Amino acid sequence: KLVSREFKADNTVIDVRGVKIGGEELAVMAGPCSVESLEQLRETAAAVKKAGAQFLRGGAFKPRTSPYDFQGLGEEGLKLLKQVGDEYDLRIITEIVDLNDVELVSEYADILQIGARNMQNFRLLQAVGHGSKPVMLKRGISATISEWLNAAEYIMSAGNDNVMLCERGIRTYETYTRNTLDLSAVVALKELTHLPVIVDPSHGTGRWQMVQPMARAGIAAGADGLIIEVHPHPEQALSDGDQSLKPEKFAELMQDVKKIAEIM
Ligand code: PEP
Ligand code: MN
Repeated sequence: KLVSREFKADNTVIDVRGVKIGGEELAVMAGPCSVESLEQLRETAAAVKKAGAQFLRGGAFKPRTSPYDFQGLGEEGLKLLKQVGDEYDLRIITEIVDLNDVELVSEYADILQIGARNMQNFRLLQAVGHGSKPVMLKRGISATISEWLNAAEYIMSAGNDNVMLCERGIRTYETYTRNTLDLSAVVALKELTHLPVIVDPSHGTGRWQMVQPMARAGIAAGADGLIIEVHPHPEQALSDGDQSLKPEKFAELMQDVKKIAEIM
């Protein structure tokens, strides 16, 4: 298989407009769950850039559990991401939910995110596989590592080598946390595949208090980077406020993970 270590022994390093993912440097993607406004995005971007993140995250098309919840700003959100990313020299990662949107989202984003709910949307995987934009494939909510790697294989076999994997927690019997962050998957993936591995402790726990410790643990487990939800006013967030860090807390997290990355 194209994703396997046997096929390719050396780690894949993905160059995103000069920022490398999977190499020596830690890649950190941070920003709100949803793009809400220019002001919100600017305030967040300024803070995460200052703290050392290289990527701005933000959802424009939101796959919400309930159809009555905020669904995102759509193309307007993509425009805001691009504008603010340019202003603060941050690369953009945002989710794509529809196979007909590859061209549209690629115009604005540097990395296409495939969300947990779409991990086995094979037509969508093939559609992003036909392009060359880097793709971050999040683990399905109840996907085994083997199913996840097969999903990545769909993208690679369609022709796109720029694939990274994101552990974002899986559903278990435990309900205290939103999901169970499976950090042993990071170690397993490092054995099985050459693709970069990112950890998402925000969706992985659902609780902001747990984000910083689990971010540290993710890097200690060998992840190449992190994706973290940050909001200037989490209590006002239109989605995922409970798991969003305030900028000050995110800056602390960055100091911690840089130290851990140095000894890895
Ligand atoms: C997100 O990153 O905001 C998101 C919806 O993540 P997931 O697909 O992991 O639930
Ligand atoms: Mn979210």
